[in-house]
Amino acid sequence: MMNVPFYSLDYVNRDLGLSLGDSIDAVVKSNWFIRGSRCALFEEAFADLCGKKACVGVGNGLDALTLMLKASIILGRISTGDEVIVPANTFVATVLAVRAAGLVPVLVEPNSETCNLDVAQLPAACSARTRAILAVHLYGRLADMPAICEFARAHGMLVFEDAAQAHGASGESYSSNAAAYSFYPTKNLGAMGDGGAVVTDDIELARVVRSLGNYGSIEKYVNQYVGVNSRLDEIQAAILQAKLPHLDAWNRRRQEIAARYCAEIKNPLVRITPVPANPKSHVWHVFPVFCETRDDLQKFLKGRGVETLIHYPIPPHRQEAFSGALSRGELRYGPLPITEKLAKTELSIPMGPSMIDEQVSYVIESLNNYAH
Ligand SMILES: *Cc1c(COP(=O)(O)O)cnc(C)c1O
Repeated sequence: MMNVPFYSLDYVNRDLGLSLGDSIDAVVKSNWFIRGSRCALFEEAFADLCGKKACVGVGNGLDALTLMLKASIILGRISTGDEVIVPANTFVATVLAVRAAGLVPVLVEPNSETCNLDVAQLPAACSARTRAILAVHLYGRLADMPAICEFARAHGMLVFEDAAQAHGASGESYSSNAAAYSFYPTKNLGAMGDGGAVVTDDIELARVVRSLGNYGSIEKYVNQYVGVNSRLDEIQAAILQAKLPHLDAWNRRRQEIAARYCAEIKNPLVRITPVPANPKSHVWHVFPVFCETRDDLQKFLKGRGVETLIHYPIPPHRQEAFSGALSRGELRYGPLPITEKLAKTELSIPMGPSMIDEQVSYVIESLNNYAH
């Protein structure tokens, strides 16, 4: 019996122990904790990594999503009450952000193979009020962005990305209006607290997001917008800066593990989503498997010391927070059988750069030994 944690932060942080301590010390010695040079340096480095002109650090991923949408309203690119297409199977924050910005989420069924937004579903999902698409790179797999952007362009819509699970994923080139990231500690690039960022080629949008996150103010004590307080602090920025050079190697290790899982998990009771044609377009934030007897499989794996999680057991439209939202017109969706099936059958197995080959083999062997 071997214990395989779902994800070990200990390794990621211990690996960098010394430099992280030094990074934090330097901030402490500087006595400057908010809106300083470390945040600016990290923003520049992260924009570079994303191949974008601007990055604005904010307090967390939910705020990054919300402020990106609010800034687009302020700039007159979309209007309050407009509809935004969102995949129905996502983390609840995607939907919360659209609501928080005063927009109406239209939940759309995913492709059951990729679990991402299904471009074939877009035409039927649109109404005269639909003005934007918010794609989610769920599990770390880039959504079909070239096709989504082409559809949006043809219909005069904006395209946003929830990239909270896809730091460092790269694919065919495409141009969205902006992408929102989270640096929650267990994301592929994680802080030691909350953090987030909006990344964009749109300098105006970046300026408004920065202002919104700072009380609606760029110049001290002059308030242009009704903003909030949502900023990436200096300690988190210094930690992210220290981790950033390792992101690529960590993602490559995730891709290696995923390639083994895809090739070696051979159990008719366990369905996997294959490696995409371009392996770099998937950074495997989690490795999902699908099983009709999911809860039984989870118990079986737990008995063998293999820790798993479910992403996500209750889809957003089934959450109490949104009960009545459909009839009030605050949310729009039709039947969502694929989304509900995914929520009933998904199980995320151990994944992360800390996994050693023996652990990967043990997880594979455990899954292959599962019978019902
Ligand atoms: C983590 C996550 C968020 C929210 O990020 P926080 O920093 O926790 O607010 C949003 N969307 C997705 C898909 C996520 O995985």
